[in-house]
Amino acid sequence: MANARPPATIACMECGGECFLLYEIKPDDEYEGGDIVAYRCPDCRERWDMEITEDDLTDD
Ligand SMILES: [Zn+2]
Repeated sequence: MANARPPATIACMECGGECFLLYEIKPDDEYEGGDIVAYRCPDCRERWDMEITEDDLTDD
């Protein structure tokens, strides 16, 4: 699944705001199911670490 990416943003489970991906892996690495990605909410400063699944990854 080349160039598969997790969502750039997720809905904040704390305040309902928009959380942004904290960092990206190296361009020559690939995301795969089971990877942990971190999001930060700019509104409430909450951090969310999510385990992604194959279903979360999109090829765009
Ligand atoms: Zn929030």
